[in-house]
Amino acid sequence: MKRIHHWIDGRPVPGDGARSGAVFNPATGEQTGVVDFASADEVDAAVSSALQAYDSWRETPISRRSEILFRFRDLLDRHRADLARLLTAEHGKVHADALGEVSRGLENVEFSCGVGNLLKGGYSEQVSSGIDVYSIRQPLGVVAGITPFNFPAMVPMWMYPNAIACGNTFVLKPSEKDPSAPLFCMELLAEAGLPPGVVNLIQGDRVAVDRLLSHPDIAALSFVGSTPIARRIYEAGTGNGKRVQALGGAKNHMVVLPDAPVDLAADAAVSAAYGSAGERCMAISAVVAVGSAGDELVPAIAARLDKVQVGPGDDPDSEMGPLITCEHRDRVAGYVEGAAAAGATVVRDGRNDEVCDSRGFFLGPCLLDDVDAEMDCYRDEIFGPVLCVLRVDAYDEAVRLIGENPWGNGAAIFTRDGGAARRFQLEAAAGMVGVNVPIPVPVAYYSFGGWKGSLFGDLHMYGPEGVDFYTRTKVVTARWPDPSTSTVDLGFPKNR
Ligand code: NAD
Repeated sequence: MKRIHHWIDGRPVPGDGARSGAVFNPATGEQTGVVDFASADEVDAAVSSALQAYDSWRETPISRRSEILFRFRDLLDRHRADLARLLTAEHGKVHADALGEVSRGLENVEFSCGVGNLLKGGYSEQVSSGIDVYSIRQPLGVVAGITPFNFPAMVPMWMYPNAIACGNTFVLKPSEKDPSAPLFCMELLAEAGLPPGVVNLIQGDRVAVDRLLSHPDIAALSFVGSTPIARRIYEAGTGNGKRVQALGGAKNHMVVLPDAPVDLAADAAVSAAYGSAGERCMAISAVVAVGSAGDELVPAIAARLDKVQVGPGDDPDSEMGPLITCEHRDRVAGYVEGAAAAGATVVRDGRNDEVCDSRGFFLGPCLLDDVDAEMDCYRDEIFGPVLCVLRVDAYDEAVRLIGENPWGNGAAIFTRDGGAARRFQLEAAAGMVGVNVPIPVPVAYYSFGGWKGSLFGDLHMYGPEGVDFYTRTKVVTARWPDPSTSTVDLGFPKNR
């Protein structure tokens, strides 16, 4: 059985053996590994390694930091397939999708290589006689990241490349469900020449997170995961005086107007709802069909679902893999049962698919029509291959649904009407909006984040706002007067 360790001070460190968790291959249902769970003392060891590395890392020239990140970028590029295989083995996503995850993570690393441009401050000459003012950005110190199971390689790359490019040192606590991919990235960072201690990784669960939250040497915390935990992390972290950005769950709406081409909308809905078995925070989980749009759209989606190949992620024919755990699969399947009892129409019931008879954690694609806003399948984040269709009479109702929903990650509109799309961009209460694009995940040089229950904190993640998050500004006022002109002046400094 594979043993999955921590990474502290530039090398793998076995846990103290007191606590551990099981890692599964979701496609076979077999346990393939044991992951160490860090104690508070082990977290302290990682933080102290990061603290020791901090002074010399923050003084390392920007060009040298970029050079190391650039080498890391090259190594990632070379090892795309190895990393994707690790993702498939523990998360279950199909190989092509895993390669997509690596590619989007790589974009974030590429962005961080150019951080010199973003660390530039401002300079104002002669703000008063002989006085100049300039602003500089400085790192925060030791910062931490806590990440979810659904993007075990990419989401950590939303954090540590920018954090260390800005001169911070980092402690990562990835998901305990699929810990091998982020650990492999630590090896690549070391191979790229990153000094020991600049990035550390501790495996574990709530015990590790709670220690990070209370540790006096952690200056800031980035979190991505479910909403209740995001809220708790934000409140506890800020309560302890830390800077926190905590990204939570989602319910992403795809509004389809009657003029939208049916095939285009159906292709997009199927791709965005069932890719990665619906385990994406930007997955479309609710289609809002306006007016007559649903009449042709629902049968078009259903027809496509019968052709989706569900199977193990390492089979090149598979388009959709299993869910992360057996319990999660059962929970997701429970929503289909609940929706039927609440009066929704079960257009396609993936619980009956043959693949569900295997020992893997599979559930076929499920499609629910005639869903209303009171049903649990709409109110809760399901995080599985279940798409709800809500039918509304008018565009305004669709926008109201989005506004009243407690989450606000992504929202998309499908239409040929530019005026309607522009209105939607103005009115949709979500942090990321797609126009004929169902999963509008911003490229690395913008920033990622939702509104309402999808993000606690002020700054979005990665891109320019990531650099803002990982730095604090200092404003310097300087003058070099002729000492012979010096006088005492008790008045408050004013411009002359
Ligand atoms: P999760 O909230 O269960 O876990 C996230 C992290 O928190 C993990 O590292 C986990 O070990 C830790 N954790 C779990 N329970 C904890 C507790 N009680 N106290 C402290 N830490 C705890 O989320 P998940 O199941 O791994 O991931 C799926 C969720 O993440 C979904 O809700 C999804 O929408 C969300 N997500 C959001 C985004 C985003 O950008 N907004 C991106 C990816 C995933």
